Amino acid sequence: MGMFLAILPAMLDPYPPRPPVKVDLQSIFQELNEKHFDGFLDCPQLSWNARLRTCAGRFTPGRTQLSPGEFGPKIEIAQYLTQLEKAEHLVLDVLGHEMIHYWLWVRRQPYGHTLEFYTKLEQMGVSRYNPVPQRSGRAYIYYCMSCQSQFPSKKYHPSLACASCCQKHSQGKFDIQFLLALKRAPWRGTSANV
Ligand SMILES: [Zn+2]
Ligand SMILES: [Zn+2]
Repeated sequence: MGMFLAILPAMLDPYPPRPPVKVDLQSIFQELNEKHFDGFLDCPQLSWNARLRTCAGRFTPGRTQLSPGEFGPKIEIAQYLTQLEKAEHLVLDVLGHEMIHYWLWVRRQPYGHTLEFYTKLEQMGVSRYNPVPQRSGRAYIYYCMSCQSQFPSKKYHPSLACASCCQKHSQGKFDIQFLLALKRAPWRGTSANV
């Protein structure tokens, strides 16, 4: 042990993190609302969630008539989608999925993955599954505290440094300052959107 090496992110992860793309949830909501729901839906509380990992989106029912201290319905979209390829398309898919839950709930129907849910899903041409790269079998996730990049890996490496940070700040030489921290993989393969 004790041998340090710097590796290129591409060696570890076929989906290296990319800079997040700006995606406007409100306008995608309105677009889908006009196209598939006749503009019938009121905009719920819409937000990005940086902690959603095992699912790409989440609908939480709330109250329609709000009294103080009560919350309205909300839809959260996993923020990591904005770092994936075709981010806007993925967000459209996931938001579309959550909007069907919301639409069923607004109409006081069972709002789980019912037959009606899937019928609407098919009509809208929305993907049935979580559009997230498969991460199963990647037991470890490394993390660069300097540039925030994450590197999933199947193998355990005792000492890795972030190659791009070493390149940027240390002429490509291994620099202990950019040692990757290890954190467990929170991903459990592909799961359906919740
Ligand atoms: Zn880095
Ligand atoms: Zn769902």
